[in-house]
Amino acid sequence: MRPGKKSGAPRLSMEVGRGIHRITLPLPGPRPGPVNAYLFVGDNVSLLDTGTAQAAGRLSKALGELGYRFSDIDRIVLTHGHIDHYGSAARIMAASRGRTRLYVHREDAASVETGQEARKRTTERFLALMGVPLSLRLSLLSVFFVFMQMAETARPDRFLEEGDTVQMGCHRARIMETPGHTRGSVCLLIEREGLLFSGDMVLPHITPNALAMVEDGLTVPSRRAQDEFYRSLSRIEEAAPRVVHPGHGRAIGDLPAIASLYRTLFSERQEKVLDLLSRGESTVWEVARALFPEIQKLGYRTALESYLAVSEVFTHAQELAADEKIALRRAGNRILLRKEP
Ligand SMILES: [Zn+2]
Repeated sequence: MRPGKKSGAPRLSMEVGRGIHRITLPLPGPRPGPVNAYLFVGDNVSLLDTGTAQAAGRLSKALGELGYRFSDIDRIVLTHGHIDHYGSAARIMAASRGRTRLYVHREDAASVETGQEARKRTTERFLALMGVPLSLRLSLLSVFFVFMQMAETARPDRFLEEGDTVQMGCHRARIMETPGHTRGSVCLLIEREGLLFSGDMVLPHITPNALAMVEDGLTVPSRRAQDEFYRSLSRIEEAAPRVVHPGHGRAIGDLPAIASLYRTLFSERQEKVLDLLSRGESTVWEVARALFPEIQKLGYRTALESYLAVSEVFTHAQELAADEKIALRRAGNRILLRKEP
């Protein structure tokens, strides 16, 4: 212990398991709230997720309280390729002069390397097909640009796959591929202790987003994010973890209760979308505006909310179409949703 430092728990982190420290890092905006990074110590020093680049100072301070520096980190494992989860990776890797290895699933590697899931043009075209007006498309692209500044891109060293085991401090963690929130989301399961690290797959305070899986080379996403999300949810329920440690918010002791809440909200949302479509053929944007009236007000924050709303309605429409309850029709450069009789 360093002189002058009082004994007791450090302030910026909390031990949530043997040799596992949760470090909560700030993130602007009300949702999803501060992001959790987890430091695993023991046989090696491993970091699960990093927070944004802006929070690197706080992360470094939290590590310092525990007696570690960035250059002590042997590996960084990412639950997925969103800026609030990988934003400080490049800085940590630079501090160790490249000794720190970076692990991520192949499907999210491009996000980490380039700062975006798909090219601007792909996203723009997707939004146009959804019927989003040009002015909002432009402000959305500028919001995404601001987001890109919250992270430094980094080059992954290894791709995580289903069934891989990764030594995290004194624990052996098994990788579970859990696509849904993103194409390359993974969870880490420490079977012996009954711990699951879920990234944004399970959150205690809000329903996680199964974001539209916009992909370069495809006009309309072919992968069904909601379907993949609920399959992933069933898989982690089968693993029956005792405690789930999420990417945002507090630890979760009752996964089945949260999972059933998500399923209820999913069915309610499906019903609402279907109900709105009984008024007549609509674009995704028209349904999104009816479902979330608050996105009508143009502004920086509502631009992001608009994207989430469009993404949500589109991914629900994909499920309704798979169930043959609605049909998707291309009309010019728009996609129209029609309720089946
Ligand atoms: Zn995320």
